[in-house]
Parts: sequence; C-alpha cells; structure tokens
Amino acid sequence: MTLTAGLETRADILDTEELNPMSAMLARYDAASKHLGLDSGMNRLLTHPEYEIQVAVPVEMDNGDVQVFTGYRVIHNTARGPGKGGIRFDAGVSIEEVRALAAWMTWKCAVVDLPFGGAKGGILCNPFRLSSRELERLTRRYTSRIISTLGPDSDVPAPDVNTNEQTMAWILDTYSMHVGRSTPGVVTGKPVALGGSLGRRDATGRGCLIMIKEAFAHLGMQLQGSTVAVQGFGKVGGVAARLLHEAGCRVVAISDRGGAIYNAKGIDIPAALKWVGNRVLLDGFPGAEPIAAEALLALDVDVLVPAAMENVITSINAGDVRARIVCEGANGPTTAEADAILDANGVFVIPDILANAGGVTVSYFEWVQNRAAYHWTERVVNDRLTEIMKRAFSDVARESRKRNVTMRTAAYCLAIDRVATAHRLRGLYA
Ligand code: NAD
Repeated sequence: MTLTAGLETRADILDTEELNPMSAMLARYDAASKHLGLDSGMNRLLTHPEYEIQVAVPVEMDNGDVQVFTGYRVIHNTARGPGKGGIRFDAGVSIEEVRALAAWMTWKCAVVDLPFGGAKGGILCNPFRLSSRELERLTRRYTSRIISTLGPDSDVPAPDVNTNEQTMAWILDTYSMHVGRSTPGVVTGKPVALGGSLGRRDATGRGCLIMIKEAFAHLGMQLQGSTVAVQGFGKVGGVAARLLHEAGCRVVAISDRGGAIYNAKGIDIPAALKWVGNRVLLDGFPGAEPIAAEALLALDVDVLVPAAMENVITSINAGDVRARIVCEGANGPTTAEADAILDANGVFVIPDILANAGGVTVSYFEWVQNRAAYHWTERVVNDRLTEIMKRAFSDVARESRKRNVTMRTAAYCLAIDRVATAHRLRGLYA
C-alpha cells in the first residue's frame, strides 16, 4: 500500500476539519495567542492574509491543446519585511493550503528572526504529467499573472514541492523581462550561476540536522549510532537523510511517493540518492525491503523526520509513533489533534516552523548577497546558518520552559509576539 493510498483512506475516516491546513494553523495560533494575551483586534490582524491572488494560467500543451491551470499567491503578512515563501506545483494545491502555508512562513521567518514576512504560492497541476517545455510555459505564464506582487522588496518566491532551481530561473527571467532589468533578488533557491547561494540546496536538510543535534543535546541523547526514519526523499528529506547518514546516524527507513523501504542495518543513503537520480523513484532499490508507507511512521527509531507533505501524523496514527524525536522537515505534517497525543506520549516534537527554517534562512542569505552583488563561501553560509538555527532552538526551548508549553506552542508564542510587536510599533495606516 502506498502512503498516498493510506492518506486517502485516512481522509475518509477523519473529520475533514482535522485535515484542513488552515484550521491546523489557526488551532496553534489560538493556543499561542491565549498565552500571549493578545486582544481580538490583533488576532484578526494576524490571522487575515494581506493579499490573495487566484489566477487562470492558460498553457499551450505540446500537442497543441490549450489547458487552463489554477494558480495562487498569498501574502500573509509583511509587517516585518517582504513576503517570502515557496511555490509548489502539486495535484493537492488549494487556496486553503496556500493560505496556511503563507501564514506558516510568517511565523517561520519570525522564529528565526529574519526581516521577512510570509507568503506562498502554488499551481494546481500534476507536474509529473507535464513535459519540461510545458512546465516552462506554465511557470512563465503564472509569473506574469502574479507579477504585481513580485519584487525583491515585496514578494520573493523560492522552490517548494515539485519546483526547483530551474523553476526559479524561469521566474527570474520572466520577471526581469517584464521590468526591463536583470533582477536576481526576485527569487531565491535559483542556480548559483544566476546568483543563487552556495549551500542553499542543502539548507533545509542541514537545518534539520542542526535542530536534531540540538534536540539530542537538550535531551541528553547520543547522536552517533542513533536510528532515523525519513519520509520523503526530495529536496528536504533526501538531504536530511544524507547529512544524518554522514553524521553517523543509522537511517533505517526512507520513502517517497512510490512507497517506503527499510533496512535494520541502515540504508546506504548515497546509493539510494544515486538510484533516485537515475530512476526518479526509490522503487526497486536493492539493499532494503519494501514496507507499508504507514509503517515507516510507527518504527521504533530515535528520530522520525516527516519531510513530504501535510497531515501524515493524525489523531488516527499519532499513538503509533514510537520515535523519541519528531523533526518536522515538511510543513504541517502533524495535525493539531495529533499534537496532544504525541505530547502525552512524551514525543519531543521540533515543530515545522523551527525545524525546516534552514531553507528560508539561507534564502535570506541569498537575497542579502544579491542586494550586495557579492558571494559568500559555502563555509560562511553554513556557519551563519548554524548560528541562527542554534540561537532559534535555544530561544524556543527557553520559551517552552518559561511558559511550560510544548516546543510548538513556544515557537508560535515567540513568532507571533515578534510579528505583533512589529504591528504595534507601525500602527495602522488609515
Ligand atoms: P520535493 O518535491 O523536493 O520532495 C518531496 C518528496 O516527498 C519526494 O521524494 C516525493 O516523492 C515525496 N512524497 C510526496 N508524497 C509523498 C507521500 N505521500 N509519501 C511519502 N513521500 C511522498 O519537496 P521538498 O522541497 O522536499 O518539500 C517537502 C516538504 O518540505 C514540503 O512540506 C515543503 O513545504 C517543506 N519545505 C521545503 C523547503 C525547501 O527548501 N524545499 C523548505 C521548508 C519546508
């Protein structure tokens, strides 16, 4: 059984409200807001997106047909700086999902204290059925449709699910042609040859590694020889698995949209990455046994890294999670209902807005380098990333102790307080 099939089954069983990403975001927001004692006006301000665009994106397909895709861009909040957030191409994209992801970007940038607000975009499509030329036309037409929001000082996209450096290069080119000058700072996560940052490709996975190391130290556990399961083997999961493997962890299970594989002795992650590089999916990889995708989440491991999609740990299966640490590489992998179950079972959750903030942190470095027209070495990038992520972990851990709340509620408290402070200082322009 593939995990996708599992998700469909769970969606039938679960209250659909539990799987609504916006409800998941608001449940966490509400919990934090109560701790902060925010008034209802501030709550309204912080939970309403500033700007939402829905666009029709017509594309001439390779066979001459014209298809019309639906695209979104949501700017959740810009009180602390320009909107920042990825663009995903996926068959599950909806306005509710993009809205929640945009808000999560606001909180994420605030947790690691970057001068950015939050944004997100997406196109409802099945990118695996599109040729490279069709993807290019889709990307360029979407870019020109949302061009009013884009710009290094207003809204700066990055890659997300099923988009990559090439997608960013097309956006950069389309935007630059519209405004009549080359503008590398309009996107991050672009190729290094076009002003991308060294270290950006690994940044989200590296951030996960840094957070897991901090969690081990915090809990008095030993990283070397610890066991890990990683769900999702793309830009986040693939890199996290590789870096954890290099750090001496035993990565016993990995998965992608085709299914999961397991080897109790540890999977040869570089070989698995090579396999995926040649064949796209893990399916058929020798040296590990296929297991049910759901089973990966319930393995008796030290660390579970959900790094694929939202809503994989729910009220139905949270009780099965046996990992001591869950490091949320993906955005929104745990539902709000599942939080309480994990907490009651003593699972230490490094929440998404902290765990996967390494990507946007190096995106910020890329944007800074573009503005200065200067390149940092990879070592400088990684050192500064480590410094920012470690400080954020210790800020959140301190907040968690101070308020006697989970790391997730603590991260939301810290982030929301910073955004609320920015609003108070700015006041309302009428
Ligand atoms: P990606 O497209 O590079 O990879 C996604 C991976 O998940 C692929 O291996 C895919 O096969 C797998 N997958 C998809 N559906 C699955 C399923 N049902 N079960 C198991 N695996 C499945 O995307 P990505 O950039 O790695 O993003 C993954 C998650 O991390 C998303 O939630 C994204 O929003 C979040 N994230 C990404 C970044 C970034 O820098 N790319 C930063 C922060 C957060």
